[in-house]
Amino acid sequence: MADTILTGLDGQQISVSAEQVKDLSDRMQGSLLGTADQGYEDCRRIWNHMIDRRPGLIAMCESAEDVQHAVRFASEHGVLTAVCGGGHNVAGNAVCDGGIMVNLTRMKQATVDPGARIANVGPGCQLADLDRATQEHGLVAPGGIISETGVAGLTLGGGFGWVSRKYGMTIDNLVSADVVTADGELLKASSTENADLFWGIRGGGGNFGVVTNFEFGLHPLGPEIYCGVIVFPFSEARQVLERYREFAAAAPRELTVWAVTRKAPPLPFLPESVHGQLVQIIAVAYAGDPAEGERLVAPVRGFGNAHGDHLGLAPFTAWQSAFDGLQTAGVRNYWKSHNLDSVNDGIIDTVIEYIQQAPGDQCEIFLAQLGGAMAEVGATDTAYHHRSTPFLMNVHTRWQDASDDDRAVGWARSLFEAAAPHASGSVYVNFVSNEGRQRVQDAYPAETWDRLVSLKAKYDPRNLFRMNQNIPPQG
Ligand SMILES: Cc1cc2nc3c(=O)[nH]c(=O)nc-3n(C[C@H](O)[C@H](O)[C@H](O)COP(=O)(O)OP(=O)(O)OC[C@H]3O[C@@H](n4cnc5c(N)ncnc54)[C@H](O)[C@@H]3O)c2cc1C
Repeated sequence: MADTILTGLDGQQISVSAEQVKDLSDRMQGSLLGTADQGYEDCRRIWNHMIDRRPGLIAMCESAEDVQHAVRFASEHGVLTAVCGGGHNVAGNAVCDGGIMVNLTRMKQATVDPGARIANVGPGCQLADLDRATQEHGLVAPGGIISETGVAGLTLGGGFGWVSRKYGMTIDNLVSADVVTADGELLKASSTENADLFWGIRGGGGNFGVVTNFEFGLHPLGPEIYCGVIVFPFSEARQVLERYREFAAAAPRELTVWAVTRKAPPLPFLPESVHGQLVQIIAVAYAGDPAEGERLVAPVRGFGNAHGDHLGLAPFTAWQSAFDGLQTAGVRNYWKSHNLDSVNDGIIDTVIEYIQQAPGDQCEIFLAQLGGAMAEVGATDTAYHHRSTPFLMNVHTRWQDASDDDRAVGWARSLFEAAAPHASGSVYVNFVSNEGRQRVQDAYPAETWDRLVSLKAKYDPRNLFRMNQNIPPQG
C-alpha cells in the first residue's frame, strides 16, 4: 500500500505510511476517510461555498476517544489540522487543504436534566439540536439566531442571540467543557478544574484544544414567545433607524431588537410589489410575559409607514429558525463586522448609501443589539471582552458566482472602511472572515491578548490548532 501524502503544519508535504493511517482507522469508533472514499465529498463541505478545500484525511469522530486518536496522530506526524464543529463559520477554518479534518458533525448528542437545568451537548450539534432538546422541557441556553449554526464554534467565540440580553452570552451559561488538548489529553475545564483553560475557551475560539462536550446551565423560556418582524419602506430607513436607536436604548433586557437592511424576501404578509425591493426590517423578540412584550413593541409600528408586519406568539424553536431561509448553505459568503459604541449618524449614512450598491440580492447589513445581562459579566472574567459594546454591525455579502468574488468582497471592504470612523475599532471574533492577524487581535484588548498568548504557549506550544482565528503561542 502506498504512503499517504499530507500537508504538514508548516505547509510542507509529509509522508505517512499506510500502516500508520490504518492504525488510526482501526482505533476509531467512527470512520477515517481518504480522498477516494465514499462520503468524502459531503464530509469536507462546509456552509460557505467560497471555501473549497480538500483535506488528505477526514476523521469522522463519534466519541471523545476518536478525537484523542485523531489529535495524537496529527500531533505525532505534525499534520495540518482543522476542526469542524458545525462547519458554519464564514472564515472556513473548519476544513484545510491536504491535512486532517477532525470532523465532529456526528457527535450530535444533546441530553437535558430538567431538574438540575443542565444540558450536555456534543460538539457536532447545531443550535436546532440544542433548542429542540431544551425546549422539550421549557428551557433554553442562549445561542444565535440561525438554527444551523454549530454550537461548538459559536460557544468558543462567545455566542449571543435573542435571549442573551436576558440570560447572558452562551459562554456565560457554560458550566464546564471536556477538552482534548494538543497532546491528546482529555481535560475538564470549569471554574474549579483547569480554570485558566476555562477562561480561554470562553471567547478564545478553538485555539486551546478540541471540545468534545459542552455542559450548559439552562433557564425557563417559552415554549412560545412574543416575536416577529416589521417591514418599512427603504425610503424611510433613516427615520426608522433613528427611532430604532432611541427605542433600543430604552428597552428592558427581556426585549431584543435588531435592524436589517436588505431586499425584501417574498414574505406572505408583504404586498407582492414589495418583494425584491430594498426595505428596512426591524426584528423583535421578548423573553418574558408575552402581553408585556406586545405592549412594549407596539410603538415600533409607528417608526414609519410599514409595508406590513408579522408579530405575535410563536414557538421559540420556530423563531430560532425564522431567518434560516436567508442564510442557507451553499452560496459564496464574505463578512465584515464592526463593534459599535452607538448607532450614530455616520453608521446610518453608511448603511443607507452602501446597501444601494450591494453586489447581490441576498446581501444585507444588520445591526444587532447587545447589552443587558451580557454587559454584567466582568470584561476580564472571560476571554470575550467587549461586554459594554451595545451594538454591532455585520455585513453579510452573499453571491453565487466565483466571477463576482472581487466585486462582492470589494463592496464589503469599502463599506467596512466607510463605517470605520464611526465604529469602536473592535470586533466579535466569530464574525471575522479571513482578514489577517490584526483583525483577530482587534477582537481582544492587549491584556486579554497577552493572557491568551500565554495560555496558548501552555496548552498548544506548537500551534497544532492553527486553523482558526489564530492566537500564536509566541504572540
Ligand atoms: C448565518 C450565520 C449566522 C450566525 N449567527 C450568529 C449569532 O446569531 N450569534 C453568534 O454569536 N454567532 C453567530 N454566527 C457566528 C457563529 O457563531 C460562528 O460562525 C461559529 O464559529 C459557528 O460555529 P461552528 O461550530 O458551526 O463553526 P465551525 O466552522 O465548525 O468552526 C469555527 C471555528 O471553531 C473551531 N471549532 C469548531 N468546533 C470546535 C470544537 N469542538 N473544539 C475546538 N474548536 C472548534 C473550528 O476549528 C474553527 O476554527 C453566525 C454564523 C453564520 C454563518
